[in-house]
Amino acid sequence: MDYQSIIDEISNEITPLFGTGKVANYIPALAGVNPKQFAMTLTLFDGTQYSVGQADTLFSVQSISKVFTFTLALKFYSKDLYSRIGHEPSGNPFNSLVQLEYENGKPRNPFINAGAINITDALMNHYGSCEAAYNEVLEFIKSISDDYSIDSNDVVAASEMQYGHRNLALANLMKSFNNLDNEVEDVVGIYFKHCALEMNTKMLSRAMLYLANHGVDPITDKCYITPSQAKRINAVMLTCGHYDASGDFAFHVGLPGKSGVGGGIVAVVPKTMGICVWSPELNAQGNSLIGTKALELFTDKTGLSIF
Ligand code: GLU
Repeated sequence: MDYQSIIDEISNEITPLFGTGKVANYIPALAGVNPKQFAMTLTLFDGTQYSVGQADTLFSVQSISKVFTFTLALKFYSKDLYSRIGHEPSGNPFNSLVQLEYENGKPRNPFINAGAINITDALMNHYGSCEAAYNEVLEFIKSISDDYSIDSNDVVAASEMQYGHRNLALANLMKSFNNLDNEVEDVVGIYFKHCALEMNTKMLSRAMLYLANHGVDPITDKCYITPSQAKRINAVMLTCGHYDASGDFAFHVGLPGKSGVGGGIVAVVPKTMGICVWSPELNAQGNSLIGTKALELFTDKTGLSIF
């Protein structure tokens, strides 16, 4: 298949959509991003990459980091993880407090904010400190991306903390139900640092390969997780990766995927490739509007959906 022509075509077809979404502005440090940007990269199992647009430009990964923290938590806690967190779609906005109260402080899944904050807490227990939990997640991301330059943007993390009342409320609510072991500010602080990591579409599509290949990096042969754990992470990406638009993403795109409010979306074509698209304007549910459309066009043109 001529992947380069296909993504070039997609890049032309999405152009009329610029201006129809909104850049995330609830994190002031992200509000100033130029909205008129688009990038898409495909990474195949032999490392070949096809890119279009600003594929070298770094952006804030935000909730895409939840895929990586979930991976590590599942690796270390296995099924025990599900005593503190579920794996059902929430059908609610990413930062909703209501469901968490009804469900006694147990987050529906690892990809809503409460779930990822809870996972951060589990990783802090496992690694023994805030610093170790942050560093080990970063090392893991560098390893799966095969890029050792990746770092967090402290200005973005601080901006999130300054306006992080909702995330702090979620953590406090879990703490009140005895479903958070460490101090609220410490856990949320590390969660924000992971969200503030900066990567580009080349790095992120490369980072998805272990999930497309049953937990093993097809380029380095490093085994990160078991095939069964990889299956479960893909399943949760498919059912919960886009908050209350997860059904819509499965309907239009048909791939396991995870979005972030920085405008990035990662997706997995099982046994074939990792994909990342980025465009900062978001739809009403906080997912990249143009990124979602680009992925829909991709699976329509190539037939590479899981359905
Ligand atoms: N750091 C963001 C928040 O907690 C992540 C949300 C997202 O990317 O969907 O609000």
